[in-house]
Amino acid sequence: MPATRSPIPSIDRLLRTPAAAVLLARFGRDATLAALRAEAEAVRAAFRAGAQPPGEIALIDAAADRLARLFAPSQRRVVNLTGTVLHTNLGRAPLPEEAIAAAAEAMRHPTTLEFDLATGRRGERDHHVRSLLRELTGAEDATVVNNNAAAVLLVLNTLAKGREVPVSRGELIEIGGSFRMPEIMARAGCRLVEIGTTNRTHARDYRDAIGPRTALLMRVHQANFAISGFTARVADRELAAIAKNAGAPFVTDLGAGALVDLDRFGLPHEPTAREALAAGADLVTFSGDKLLGGPQAGLVVGRADLIRRLNRNPLKRALRLDKGRLAALEAVLRLYRAPDLLPQRLPALALLTRPESAIRAAAGRLMDRLRPALGPAWQVAVEPCRSQIGSGALPEDRLLSAAVTVAGKGVESVASRLRALPVPVLGRIGEGRLWLDCRCLTDTDERDLAAVLPDLGRGAM
Ligand SMILES: *Cc1c(COP(=O)(O)O)cnc(C)c1O
Repeated sequence: MPATRSPIPSIDRLLRTPAAAVLLARFGRDATLAALRAEAEAVRAAFRAGAQPPGEIALIDAAADRLARLFAPSQRRVVNLTGTVLHTNLGRAPLPEEAIAAAAEAMRHPTTLEFDLATGRRGERDHHVRSLLRELTGAEDATVVNNNAAAVLLVLNTLAKGREVPVSRGELIEIGGSFRMPEIMARAGCRLVEIGTTNRTHARDYRDAIGPRTALLMRVHQANFAISGFTARVADRELAAIAKNAGAPFVTDLGAGALVDLDRFGLPHEPTAREALAAGADLVTFSGDKLLGGPQAGLVVGRADLIRRLNRNPLKRALRLDKGRLAALEAVLRLYRAPDLLPQRLPALALLTRPESAIRAAAGRLMDRLRPALGPAWQVAVEPCRSQIGSGALPEDRLLSAAVTVAGKGVESVASRLRALPVPVLGRIGEGRLWLDCRCLTDTDERDLAAVLPDLGRGAM
């Protein structure tokens, strides 16, 4: 067999080219070398199969593409036009600038995370938000953990491990992402006692279930769904009285957990932590990144003696917040001291209260950009629609909004082209059309889309 000359230049030679120097400076020696070798190997294999070997430049270009893919971030910003404002899969609440700055500062520098400047001694991590949470909810004390699932886990594990917790069958919920109340209970080490029926649970169901092994009574806010028709549930106050009578704490898992009355901003009512406490809950748990509009966190507010027990549980250490998120949470909670200004300052609330006329105007501008970018094969229009709050909050209530709709044969292809943009745009498909609900289309999104939407036409049929 005659010896064939290698179809590719040596790696050493490639490394000495100016094009490779650029890659070396940007990606370092190890990664660049690995990419060049991988491309060389691919060329060798193709050559053996009879393909024409590419030139040096083409090979280095291919290595550059490989490196760019390798170093590209996996988590990317998207434009949320799904119509769900607090979208769990898209990271829920967008944070206010104050919180972003506070988190960045905390991540950049050493902080007083667990340090008391006055005494020069060790301080407490929760201290930074404890007084704010007490002030904002009327609670005696508060603690914070990784998320609300962690808050529920910590409460149950601390107060009910090895004991029983009666819960109404109408409240044994599953929230997306495998949070199922019965499973969390099992993991927390307590025994769930199902009481009542899916649609009706009475005070006597609780009374009958209470025994010497009962650790606490729990109310789970019905997130993600609503039960209507022939229904009965025991009011918070009555449940609190039953628990008190039995000498057991009454715990409410609020889920979305508003900190202020949303009615004042023209939104439907969602129970607040303050209301739940006033109705007799000994502990209330809720999320930081749902209606509160902050970073992912789980907040527990209520009786000081119970909070102390939570803090002494070794699980607390495993579930605690890092300084960046704690700083962001503190900044968001501080905004609640000026509640009337929240719709301007808190992005989540700004989006939820955005006037329909402003949304329609934004939709009009997007339509004007999308039409020429898509070409005449598609019917692009502005239509009224309804946004969802998301994260299980107020599942029945929809907010009046406006969408750009795209109709035509195979709208999935338009949806996938929008997702492939440098700033990916996410909508939803329904009634044979693509809906781009413009409630969450911000000025920044509009500016960035103006630059990339013209590319949409490329590759169009
Ligand atoms: C969302 C929710 C949870 C879970 O909260 P995360 O912050 O996502 O961990 C728990 N309970 C209820 C009722 C919820 O709505």
